[in-house]
Amino acid sequence: MDRKVFGVDIGGTTVKMGLFTSEGELLDKWEIPTRKEDSGSHILPDIAQSIKDRMSRDGLEDKDVVGIGLSVPGPVDDKGIVHKCVNLGWGVFDIDEEMRKHVDFPVFAGNDANAAALGEVWKGGGKGCKDVVVVTLGTGVGGGIIVNGKVLSGSTGAGGEIGHIHINDNETEKCGCGNTGCLEQYASATGVVRLAKRRLAKDDTPSSLRNANISARTVFDAIKAGDKLAVEVAEQFGDILGKGLSIIADVTNPEIFVIGGGVSKAGQVVIDYIEKNYMKYVFHGSRGTKFALATLGNDAGIYGSAKLVLDGVRS
Ligand code: ZN
Repeated sequence: MDRKVFGVDIGGTTVKMGLFTSEGELLDKWEIPTRKEDSGSHILPDIAQSIKDRMSRDGLEDKDVVGIGLSVPGPVDDKGIVHKCVNLGWGVFDIDEEMRKHVDFPVFAGNDANAAALGEVWKGGGKGCKDVVVVTLGTGVGGGIIVNGKVLSGSTGAGGEIGHIHINDNETEKCGCGNTGCLEQYASATGVVRLAKRRLAKDDTPSSLRNANISARTVFDAIKAGDKLAVEVAEQFGDILGKGLSIIADVTNPEIFVIGGGVSKAGQVVIDYIEKNYMKYVFHGSRGTKFALATLGNDAGIYGSAKLVLDGVRS
């Protein structure tokens, strides 16, 4: 029998679970609730139980399972030590060792943004590339930097936190991280809304956004309808993000940027504004870097977790 891999993506409300072949074909996926009470102490046992239930349903034994990959919403270092997940109630602990108390096969854990990036490189928008930067434009801005096929997680697992690159000296509002002027304050879904509201407040230029419920989506849709103020907002978004990505490119020189998250759902128009502005700032050696949309959506995390296992077992 082909051996199986479990890819698990632990989120604040649900845990997404995927059953994969060792070739990376997703056979089935399901979700269980994330029980955060009692300092999140039920989360790993719940995952183990769900996996055991699934194994008995499919007649799988321990020897049929390559391992479990866990994608965690916080920093995880190369040794599998979680360095606090505030929204799960977790402190600092060895997650591989803790999970091994419940299951008898290998466990590999990684940060969720990095796992999602690995998933996109393996089976998504960055497929076939070895040097990739995945940028997730969601509630915040997350990132995953893949160098020669491996995730760059850094000494404390904070590598790839591209949303907190300082980009604006003149910002007065604080970012969620406590600093001011972070990339995330302009390029996330909420960042785009902030840019739009600030622009609307500046003067009374007519715009379809004036009486609308503004979201990143309505801004990019307004561009398609020829709204000049929305174009200005998108230019500002593209300028700030293009500058941020040019800095990353000057350090890592990727083949491709893969753009995902809620903002990217507006499609190619988002990439057009980023790429055009990126070209203004980047060193000539990285002008050939391509841009693509992410393709795995919410499944990127389970794919990436499965890949953590396959890479971990091989290395
Ligand atoms: Zn920040």
